[in-house]
Amino acid sequence: MIDLHCHSSASDGSCTPEELIFMAKRVGLKALALTDHDCTSGLPEFEMTAKQEKFEAIPGIELACRDQNQQRFHIVGLFIDRHSQQLQEMLAQIITWRNQRNAQILERLAEEGKALSLEFVQGYCQGEVLGRPHIAEALVAKGYCQSRKQAFEQLIGRGCQAYVPRQVPSPQQCIQGIRDAGGLAVWAHPFSTSNMSNSACKNLARMLKEAGLDAIEAYYSMHKPAQTRAALKIAAELELLVSGGSDFHGRQFPALQLGLGKGKLKVPAEILPPLRQKALERQAAG
Ligand code: AMP
Ligand code: FE
Ligand code: FE
Ligand code: ZN
Repeated sequence: MIDLHCHSSASDGSCTPEELIFMAKRVGLKALALTDHDCTSGLPEFEMTAKQEKFEAIPGIELACRDQNQQRFHIVGLFIDRHSQQLQEMLAQIITWRNQRNAQILERLAEEGKALSLEFVQGYCQGEVLGRPHIAEALVAKGYCQSRKQAFEQLIGRGCQAYVPRQVPSPQQCIQGIRDAGGLAVWAHPFSTSNMSNSACKNLARMLKEAGLDAIEAYYSMHKPAQTRAALKIAAELELLVSGGSDFHGRQFPALQLGLGKGKLKVPAEILPPLRQKALERQAAG
């Protein structure tokens, strides 16, 4: 069993990269990829601990993007070289867009009588990727909301008063940025968009493949068994590789466990060698 999708305190998870390696060993995983949102700053600690523990750690990332039809995707990068200049330039742009949007969210909250200073919110963010999860924690800490869930439902979730969309790259830019860093581009949780039909999923996968997609995350905590089967079928038909992971965030989403998802997730270790092979080929060619 392996897990190719999780988050650390470098983005919006609650465990440090080191803790994730120890947790993976306890759960009995054979490999773990750290795929923090928009940053690679957790990777040095992740790789160093893995080396000491003789554990297979895969450096990764997760990026959000939108296409010209406003369709949203999350793209996971696996086996990335965090030193890639092209990748780091894209990440710097994403952080700039985030910071612009954070300021707008705080303005809207102030208009709602829920003023928070940026410095106060930063106290709830351990890394450089300050986002809505940290704003939600700050709203709870100030007593403006009873829970993070309520903060999203009433204030900062999509469609709410203080919601501001953030500018994101296109799928093509995300996939290229990951490939420039020698990594594999994976369409994360393809069925997490509500009510996506199998044919719509296949069409989107085909479009992403044209942009250089390598794999689909067929095994995922929130996928129903039929969705996993459908994703596996689409991968086979389009000659895409298969990935899988829990999307573990620690106490941010306490219902999800590393490796096990909601309890029954089991990402087979057999999917890893073809992914590793393709990444090695890409890196040798680059
Ligand atoms: P951002 O990237 O700043 O827009 O924030 C997105 C992150 O917020 C996601 O990665 C989740 O970790 C978290 N999130 C989104 N919606 C919710 C929600 N309804 N409840 C709790 N956390 C959420
Ligand atoms: Fe997240
Ligand atoms: Fe995601
Ligand atoms: Zn994720």
